[in-house]
Amino acid sequence: MDNKNHSEICIIGAGISGLIAGALLTEQGYNVTIFEKESLIGGRALSFDASSYTIDQYLKLLSRFQMNIPYSEPDLTTIFNNKMLQGYRLDLGYHAIGGGVMSNLNSVLATLDDHIEVLESSVGFIKENGYDFPFLTRADKLKILPNILRLLFASEKTMRRLDDISMTKTIEQYGQGKMKLVLEIFSRSISTVNNLDRISTGEMFRAQRILLKGSKPVGYPKNGLGEIHQKLAKAIISRGGIIQTGKSVQKILIDETKAIGVIVENKEYRFDMIVSTLLVQNLFSIADEKHFPKEYVKMMKSLQGTGSLCAYYSLKDVDTQLLGKTFHFIERDIGVDGNDAVGMIDFMSAVENTGLSPPSHQLVQSYIICTPKEAQDKKTLNKLKMVLDKNLERLVPNYQYQLRWAIYPAVWHLDGVAKTIDNAKPEIETPVKNLFIIGDCVKAPGIGINCAINSARILQETFIRSD
Ligand SMILES: Cc1cc2nc3c(=O)[nH]c(=O)nc-3n(C[C@H](O)[C@H](O)[C@H](O)COP(=O)(O)OP(=O)(O)OC[C@H]3O[C@@H](n4cnc5c(N)ncnc54)[C@H](O)[C@@H]3O)c2cc1C
Repeated sequence: MDNKNHSEICIIGAGISGLIAGALLTEQGYNVTIFEKESLIGGRALSFDASSYTIDQYLKLLSRFQMNIPYSEPDLTTIFNNKMLQGYRLDLGYHAIGGGVMSNLNSVLATLDDHIEVLESSVGFIKENGYDFPFLTRADKLKILPNILRLLFASEKTMRRLDDISMTKTIEQYGQGKMKLVLEIFSRSISTVNNLDRISTGEMFRAQRILLKGSKPVGYPKNGLGEIHQKLAKAIISRGGIIQTGKSVQKILIDETKAIGVIVENKEYRFDMIVSTLLVQNLFSIADEKHFPKEYVKMMKSLQGTGSLCAYYSLKDVDTQLLGKTFHFIERDIGVDGNDAVGMIDFMSAVENTGLSPPSHQLVQSYIICTPKEAQDKKTLNKLKMVLDKNLERLVPNYQYQLRWAIYPAVWHLDGVAKTIDNAKPEIETPVKNLFIIGDCVKAPGIGINCAINSARILQETFIRSD
């Protein structure tokens, strides 16, 4: 069977959405060319060999993704001069993949006859003194499961109604005891938003459904996120697709109402369809806004992302009880947006042979949620750093004696568009014909990586329907 489709597709950006779309569309027989402005693929889910970077290259790379390092121990110059990151494979900042081994990622890779090995974990909960693992005992589950299931299996009509209902209201209605804590923590950690007034109940339960597939709630790829990108790039190239790195798209060419090509390095390239994976707020830096309805431009520019402060801790010795586990914490009344802040400390990558750190170095990854504005505010960051360190201390008393180094990346564009009641994510099809947008900024199930992956699947379905 000839499954060749002769349409020429241009994908702008080789982040996870661009690469998944490239892999799915080349499999469908489309001619795909991906332009990526950076020299590395992966976008915000980028992982890199930390040994091969100078301090300047590292900071420059982070700044290109709206990130910096407000703190480190020892100072960054000492870390780099003493080659303390030798043998580490880091991301821009910690990524917990919702759904672990059964995440949308592996279901897409399965269609490409591939898969990735995932380190995965249930979650525990950090208390004043010590922790509970798992978070929910069998008795807790029996008690709260009927209510959770009622929400999880609600019809799409009910879900749409719940889209406009804040988690604050849902917690008022259903939240008592452990159920309250579950709703408070999971809705925040899934949405990366602390303010329960802004979190949409419908979106939360849609994102949660994936966890019912029998997998553990969180996962992280063995050997880092880069392994995923290499697999996808290989699939794209083996099917005749082209990935050009270090090539920034300067302009999307639009003829009246139809996208017809792009300009790269001052050269014009014609395409039948253009797919942008840029943060939607930045779309009009390469697409002249005069071709779009004014309201659309205004709405796209107004959309807000999410932020966080991450911390990587390299420890010499970790209690074996903690290895492979992940823990949530909630810090009350610290005066951030939403007042309480939720975070996670993850020892999944502290087990042997993760491919992320040298043998016997134990890498602990963590993050605490904040808004984009808070991620750039030194006073708030100071508070958030103290909370991260305090919660690690609760799990590893006197961890300072075990510490080789710590790096705290701050990010103010974590999820491109927060999935909140006040932010309506745009559709994949734009008002300009043959111009599509995908990624974590658009309307697709899930948050972050899962949303980016699902948007690429919806794009594939849209193309198949229109063929
Ligand atoms: C520190 C950090 C931690 C995160 N933690 C999590 C997490 O725990 N769980 C989770 O699910 N998600 C997390 N995320 C979010 C997740 O990384 C993103 O949702 C996902 O990577 C978005 O992929 P994307 O393809 O939509 O966009 P991007 O990754 O932003 O890809 C867009 C690509 O387009 C390229 N580009 C931009 N302009 C041009 C141009 N003019 N020409 C050519 N190329 C261009 C960019 O360089 C980039 O490679 C985190 C993000 C960060 C930064």
